[in-house]
Amino acid sequence: MIAAGHAADLGANVILLEKMNRPGRKLGITGKGRCNISNSAPLEIFIEKTKPDGRFLRSAFSTFFSDDIVEYMNLIGVKTMEERGGRIFPVNGSATEIVKKMEIWLAGKNAKIVTNTRAKCLIINESKIRGIIALTGKSGKRVEKRYFADRVLIATGGLSYPATGSTGDGYRLAESAGHTITSLLPSLVPLESSSPYLSILSGLEMKNIKVTVLVDNRKRYEEFGEMTFTSFGVTGPVILSLSREIVNHLEKKQSIEISIDLKPALEYKKLDNRILRDLNTRGKEELKNILRGLLPPPLVDVALRETKLAGYKKGNQVSSAERRILAEWLKGFRIIITGYRPFKEAIITSGGLDINEIDQRNMESKLVKGLYFAGEILNLDAPTGGYNLQIAFSTGWVAAEGIFKE
Ligand SMILES: Cc1cc2nc3c(=O)[nH]c(=O)nc-3n(C[C@H](O)[C@H](O)[C@H](O)COP(=O)(O)OP(=O)(O)OC[C@H]3O[C@@H](n4cnc5c(N)ncnc54)[C@H](O)[C@@H]3O)c2cc1C
Repeated sequence: MIAAGHAADLGANVILLEKMNRPGRKLGITGKGRCNISNSAPLEIFIEKTKPDGRFLRSAFSTFFSDDIVEYMNLIGVKTMEERGGRIFPVNGSATEIVKKMEIWLAGKNAKIVTNTRAKCLIINESKIRGIIALTGKSGKRVEKRYFADRVLIATGGLSYPATGSTGDGYRLAESAGHTITSLLPSLVPLESSSPYLSILSGLEMKNIKVTVLVDNRKRYEEFGEMTFTSFGVTGPVILSLSREIVNHLEKKQSIEISIDLKPALEYKKLDNRILRDLNTRGKEELKNILRGLLPPPLVDVALRETKLAGYKKGNQVSSAERRILAEWLKGFRIIITGYRPFKEAIITSGGLDINEIDQRNMESKLVKGLYFAGEILNLDAPTGGYNLQIAFSTGWVAAEGIFKE
């Protein structure tokens, strides 16, 4: 959408083909309906966080970055604000409002939106793009239509949340033009676990915890923040952030365990002292009640089962060895991760169109003249925080400039 509008502003005669009945369906559900548009982090952080090689974006970000998208949002009537971690949101907290405002912005230009129209194949002649063959109309009444054009931009997204329209069509179009698609995996995705405690813990949200990932029993990654237990495993910001690496290791058939530090603010010794104090001051109470001061109720049951401590034991009967077992468990509650959820639950696709085959200055294909790519279809992905939308906006913007200038 941003590429269509910007190319039209620059003077191009634009037709935006959209297979759904409206454009921007995914944009409308981003950021839990609030749309985390971008992030105020410096360019170097964007580059560092973007995998597998954020340097590809240096040129695009230098042309159109977070301050530019904020300016653009203001231009179309969306005021923005910054939240924790530099995350930029619309002040009114409405992702659908952004989609509406972008549609209005587009409507005022030489950019025609044709909905219910699926790009099916590319027309290429002598390594030059000539247009697109599309299927247009509602299901049951689709007809084939040819759109002739000397510039075509493919911004069909990835495979995540296919109900929004991103079903991977763009990868097939790119392959038909001779492009390479790297292996595609769900990322920023919830994880599955074989933990026997999920029925007890499902729905439990935990704040201020530290998760350490053990790959084949060796500590590899660490993240601090929030996580949530579900009926199938774990999710929440910390888990989503770690999921990219974890999914890759699971694909290599490596064993994954996460170790949850439930009290990261207290070093082991301080935690041990805190438990000792609780046991002494509440010596006549049962251990299970004392633990409620340290843990949410579902975790008290799990703690007792895991440590094999008797919940009915009185505080003053707990031995120092038992106290140590408890403190150690609180600093490292282990959960085995067995898999990851499918694309339809993933925020982003990791993998995609090989960026080595794309000119990073304008997103043009190095194989087919006049063919451009932007957004999630590219083999670029970043953590949550507004980075992925900025990648889509920046690559779309520079593609529009490339389309007009070439
Ligand atoms: C639940 C969820 C929340 C998210 N929240 C955030 C967030 O807050 N911040 C952030 O930075 N990122 C977020 N993301 C990621 C972000 O939404 C994507 O990175 C971004 O939308 C990618 O933009 P895109 O234009 O490349 O693809 P998309 O937004 O997927 O758009 C692709 C469009 O192409 C259309 N299309 C596909 N195939 C065809 C075809 N053959 N013919 C015609 N049209 C076609 C689709 O219908 C769709 O409209 C979120 C993702 C999800 C799933």
